[in-house]
Amino acid sequence: MNSLKLISINIGIPLFIYLVFALLTFNSAKLPNFLFIIVPYLFYALSIMIIWVSWHFNRNRFIFVITPLILIHLGFDYLSAAKATLLFHYASIIYPLHLLIFLVLKERGLFSVWGILKIAFVVFETAVVLYLLYYPSEQVQNFLNLKIFAISFYPLKDIAIAVFLFIFFVMSALILFNRYLIYNSTFLMILISYISGFYFLKMSYAVDMAFLTIAMIIFILLIRETYRLAFYDELTSMPGRRALVEDMAKLGRKYSLAMIDIDHFKKFNDTYGHDTGDEVLKMVASKLSAVGGGGKAYRYGGEEFTILFASKDADECFGYVDILRQNIATTPFVVRNRKKSKTIYVNISAGLVQNGSKDKEPFAVMKRADNALYKAKEAGRNKVIKA
Ligand code: GH3
Ligand code: MG
Ligand code: MG
Repeated sequence: MNSLKLISINIGIPLFIYLVFALLTFNSAKLPNFLFIIVPYLFYALSIMIIWVSWHFNRNRFIFVITPLILIHLGFDYLSAAKATLLFHYASIIYPLHLLIFLVLKERGLFSVWGILKIAFVVFETAVVLYLLYYPSEQVQNFLNLKIFAISFYPLKDIAIAVFLFIFFVMSALILFNRYLIYNSTFLMILISYISGFYFLKMSYAVDMAFLTIAMIIFILLIRETYRLAFYDELTSMPGRRALVEDMAKLGRKYSLAMIDIDHFKKFNDTYGHDTGDEVLKMVASKLSAVGGGGKAYRYGGEEFTILFASKDADECFGYVDILRQNIATTPFVVRNRKKSKTIYVNISAGLVQNGSKDKEPFAVMKRADNALYKAKEAGRNKVIKA
């Protein structure tokens, strides 16, 4: 299960955007009109930006999330009132289902076989909706008018509310248990924005504002994603070397730094395979990330890590690093291959230094920490040496 803290952050960001836009919409009568007149244009502009960015970062699912909204918006703008009403009812049921499908489907290249199947699926959906707009069938009408609840959710049909509730619960379960928290929480807030926009249809600008909210939520997510791509390590999800360089430039007058390296890791890879090696790296990374004393851990590269302790001297930090060493050395790691499973232990060595007056730049400190690490290796490994 995902931690409550992570869930709050990931829900909190899109929720905040949603609340700001909801507040603006509910107070639209008191606000200058021109703010709202530009909303559809902002939506289209942001949508085009999203398509462009998603394409470049290979986050194609957002192309599939935003395109139907553009089509629905165009439909509302250009169809006759009767057809727009029909479109409203179809879209209120189909789009939430569409969201769930594209949340669950894996990210693939747009022009791979899967990508083309997805495009074909959207074309098919559009064709079905268009057909039903021009040739509305009685069966579909009866289906739309199904009575499910004792109360009315006008202008939404009961069936739309039922679909919404179902998808709401599936997405909430995904938020709790699935590891793609950032996507699951974003999609849940997209769903809520969409349905609330439709529910408040009669309120001026509600639908336009809901669509803009969705575009905004996706845009912010893409910004967070590019940040994560740049500063976080893919395998271990801990900050990478670029983040370390940035943070070192911001250090104050006193700080300490530890360079850490896994012992005999090459042999480990040769014996148990590279994939098992990757699992060990993740285990070590998660232990190091939990460092105490206000330290922050980074993956320096390969099986080497760095911990920064801002405004602490090396004596204070020694204990925190040595606890990590002990903790890792005593954590059993189970290697399974075929039927056999074997418990093994991995060790780390560390070199710890404090910055001094002779160090002209942070990288000189790093060099000294590396020398201390080398001494720890010489001294038999599984050791922390303070220079
Ligand atoms: P020492 O105790 O002296 O540090 O010995 P070592 O074998 O750990 O030292 P060395 O630096 O020669 O080996 C590092 C090895 O780490 C080489 C490479 O196979 C492995 N390695 C580096 N990055 C990764 C990675 O991302 N995944 C896996 N599985 N292995 C990696
Ligand atoms: Mg090494
Ligand atoms: Mg090593």
